[in-house]
This record gives sequence, structure tokens and C-alpha cells, in this order.
Amino acid sequence: MKMAKKNKSFLKTNISPILICLILILVFLILILFFELKIFTSNINLNILKPQAKQTTQTNLTIIPTPKPTEKIYAPQISGNQIRVPILMYHYIGNNPNPTDKQRDYLSVTPDKFEEQMKYLKENGYNTISLDTLYPAIRGQITLPAKSIILTFDDGYMDFYTNAYPILLKYGLHATVFIPTNLMNQGYYLSWNQIREMSGSGLINFGAHGVNHYHLTSVSPQTAESEIIQSKKILQDNLGIPINFIAYPFGAVNENIIKITKNAGYMGALGTWANKTQSEGTIFNMPRLKVGGGADLQTFIDLL
Ligand SMILES: [Zn+2]
Repeated sequence: MKMAKKNKSFLKTNISPILICLILILVFLILILFFELKIFTSNINLNILKPQAKQTTQTNLTIIPTPKPTEKIYAPQISGNQIRVPILMYHYIGNNPNPTDKQRDYLSVTPDKFEEQMKYLKENGYNTISLDTLYPAIRGQITLPAKSIILTFDDGYMDFYTNAYPILLKYGLHATVFIPTNLMNQGYYLSWNQIREMSGSGLINFGAHGVNHYHLTSVSPQTAESEIIQSKKILQDNLGIPINFIAYPFGAVNENIIKITKNAGYMGALGTWANKTQSEGTIFNMPRLKVGGGADLQTFIDLL
């Protein structure tokens, strides 16, 4: 009995630590399970958030504008066969009626100064040629006479007929006048009768200069195309001869304008950038030398 009692108490005293251990293990397991669950749920959350974070980055990327390739800037390049032929560019041959108009002053060569310049060319063996003669020479098909030079006049002002033409006739010099067709027969511009008369002289050639004297690189490609095509057609219809050259108003030209000009059937075109060398690479943007108003004879000679 005593023994059994002792055993009972032994069991009592020995079971309780086992129970405590079991409880502790259980608690421990519960705790582990609890934390595992927390980690698991947080992982789920991370996995849900991650794609969202990715998406926002992707959206941001699409918002950043993709850099466009820089537009090729057109610059005339002397290339291919080349020859030295200065092309002079005049506008008004007359006294400036408004001395406060400095732009007009700059574009106006007085008839006296113009005659002095033409006399110099004649007496010093210069040969004024046409663009139709220059064209095969640039391509190496013909040889030009020594001291070949080209005289050009832009805009078709009336003073070309009244002031320049008589001087050119007097010295037997050739010139080319560029006509903005829609401006003729009005204001300070030539009449079609004057243009026809001068064309018949054999000394004066005419070229296109647009219909309305638009800045061709600032208007729509459709308008530019119409200006280039129509000015050629109107001149041909009025003069009954082919018009092979155009001078871009304001010298405004780019690769698209050159493409339109070629497609319109022109042989070449003139720009306003300065150079004395004509080349195959610049046949559709030939450089010209501007004869400024007020320049003395020596300045003119230095230009040639
Ligand atoms: Zn012009």
C-alpha cells in the first residue's frame, strides 16, 4: 500500500514536468505555425504588390517621350564636277524712293553704279553667259569661255525694264530675271508685255521665282509643289519657250523642295548662299553673290 502510494506520488511528481514539456512544445509549435502563416501571407502580399510595382514602372516608361531621330539639316555641299563661275544677284536697279527703308537701300543698286559695273565687266573681258550654257559646263560636257559670269535679277521689278535693260543692251550683256508670276502686271512689277519684249531680244532669259513669292520651306509641301510647278507653267505659256531654272524665293530650300523641283522638270535651281564655285552637287541650289546697294566699284571687283 505504502509502495503504491509512493508510486502514485512518483507518477504525480513525474507526469507534471512531462506535461509542462508537452504544453511548451505545443505552444512552440503553435507559435511557429502562427509566424509561418504571417510570413506566408506577407509573401502573398509581396507577390501581389510586385507586379503592380512593375506595372507602374512600365507605365512611367511609356510616358517618357521616346527621343526622335534628329531631322537631317540640309546644307549645300560642293561636290562632283565643278567650275568657277560667279553668279551675281541683283534686286532693284534704281534709287531708293524711301531712304528710311534700309532693307530697300541694301537691295537697290543705283543705275549709275550699275552702269559702272557693267562697263567694268565689258572692258575687262568678262563673258556673261546664260544658265542654259552653264548647265552642260558644270557637268563637264562643254568648256566655257574665260571669265564667264552670270547676271541674275530677282522679283521682276519694273526698274529692270526701265533702268537695267537699256544698260545691258548698250553693252550687249546677257542676264536672267526670276519672276514671281502672280505679281506681274501690277504695282512696281514688270508687265507681261515687257517680259515678252525682253525675251524676244535674245539677251534676257527668264526663270521661275514661285507664283506668290512664298517662302517655300514655310508653306505646306502641297503649296510649295504648286508654286514650283505653276510658276514654270505660267512663264512657259506666256513666253512660248521652256523654263528650265527656278530661284527659290528668299533662298529657302531643303531636300524636299529640291525633290519637288526635280520632279517638276527643272534642270537646276538657284539659292542665295555665297560661293563662286558651281558644282554637280549643287545644281539644285546654286550659290550666288549678292551685289549690295551702295557698294563702290572696288567692292564689286573684289566680289568677282
Ligand atoms: Zn525674291
